[in-house]
Amino acid sequence: MQLIYEKSFPGRRGTSLPELDVPAGNALPPTLLRQKPAELPEVSELDGVRHFVNLSRRNVSVDTCFYPLGSCTMKYNPKFHDRIADLPGFADLHPLLPQLRHGGALTQGALAVLYETETLLCDLLGFAAFTMQPLAGAHGELTGVMMMAAYHKDRGEKRSVMLIPDSAHGTNPASAALAGFEARTIGTDANGNTDVEALRRALSKDVAGIMLTCPSTLGLFDPNIREICRCVHEAGGLVYGDGANFNALLGRVRPGDLGVDVAHVNLHKTFATPHGGGGPGAGPVGVCEKLVPYLPTSRVMKRADGSYVLEYQFPKTIGYIAPFYGNFGVIVKAYAYMLTLGRDGLRRVSDAAVLNANYLRAHLRQAYHEPFDRPCMHECVLSAKHQIKQGVHALDIAKALLDAGFHPPTIYFPLVVPEAIMIEPTETESKQTLDAFIQAMLDIARLAETDPARVKAAPRTTPVARLDETRAARSLDLASRPAAP
Ligand SMILES: *Cc1c(COP(=O)(O)O)cnc(C)c1O
Repeated sequence: MQLIYEKSFPGRRGTSLPELDVPAGNALPPTLLRQKPAELPEVSELDGVRHFVNLSRRNVSVDTCFYPLGSCTMKYNPKFHDRIADLPGFADLHPLLPQLRHGGALTQGALAVLYETETLLCDLLGFAAFTMQPLAGAHGELTGVMMMAAYHKDRGEKRSVMLIPDSAHGTNPASAALAGFEARTIGTDANGNTDVEALRRALSKDVAGIMLTCPSTLGLFDPNIREICRCVHEAGGLVYGDGANFNALLGRVRPGDLGVDVAHVNLHKTFATPHGGGGPGAGPVGVCEKLVPYLPTSRVMKRADGSYVLEYQFPKTIGYIAPFYGNFGVIVKAYAYMLTLGRDGLRRVSDAAVLNANYLRAHLRQAYHEPFDRPCMHECVLSAKHQIKQGVHALDIAKALLDAGFHPPTIYFPLVVPEAIMIEPTETESKQTLDAFIQAMLDIARLAETDPARVKAAPRTTPVARLDETRAARSLDLASRPAAP
């Protein structure tokens, strides 16, 4: 494909700027002025439109194809909720507008959205309060473990170890380390659950708590979770729940009821904002009663007269974790999503998320190895163990799926399953789409038996074939520039 500079023709224009309505020239100091004209591509509007539309068509997205990337919840988010967040009363608000009712009625609606979203999340997850500030899932984890640290410090206890099962998301140990904890790994037992015996042995006065991904990255619900919470609490620790992918539990299981003390959810996975693509996200964190004093400031409070106000005075707060009030537009979408679906609708989300994943699992296990033979939650983890006998790896299967018109699942994660293929269909896909994907996966498995070289030669239909992925990641070059003369 041509770079836009290669379409450049001297003197051709796609824009016309309005006439200058401010004094020309001397507003900037001369040292900041450009010495020679910018080397911009000279193209017509039509050339520009064609160039960028063609580029956009090379992008794979949920709007173009099935995208079952495990642990990522690449589900379809109805456009309706974007329209709500786009309403001028929300989208045009300035964060420094006055908040109180006298002269501040402009922000009462926004504060109500923050307050009501917090209330709905408390109800769904079984917590006493939420902070809406964190801007991503990992940011929520950091917020949560900082509150855990503040809690122990407040009680005069030195606890420096964070326990993390090896089936946790990779961001968990990173967040623990960033908050100053030493991350210690707990293994997985033969059934795919956290090894409770190993956990008991690891507990001590040094342990601040445990970070549990729930459901785990094996797509499994840990039936021992109450027992795990009990053991950790008995040893004086706290339980962090990673609820980034909450689709499987919505309306059915409340982490707070299980004994989890603090947890985040990703609004940009479960609640109406797309995940990936570098757009804004939100990872609100819920806490049980004993962690409320440590929540980030500010917090939205409702007064007796029904008005809302931001409060800043909390002596034990961990402080600001983000500027202002979080990614407000993302929070508006989550609020609209919860109101659109209602309690029954949210339960149907978890029904369909779990049913879809188990439907895939039940059909694909005839051809692909299943490390743990039990029902899964919102995603199923299989492996290429049978196919590697023919020299076909998880990577080859993923590449072959591109030729079949599907975005591949997550591969080689979780790390505890060699050659892992982690499939998260999400609740928004139809049976027909799932059937087409099953057919493609079974076709690839058959081809791996009869003609493995063909699978290893995939993809054939994409703009580029196999990339040097290390070089692509390490020496990323996104700039478009004119060719050297
Ligand atoms: C996606 C995810 C995260 C991290 O969320 P980000 O918004 O990408 O920081 C954490 N834990 C789990 C289980 C996840 O799936």
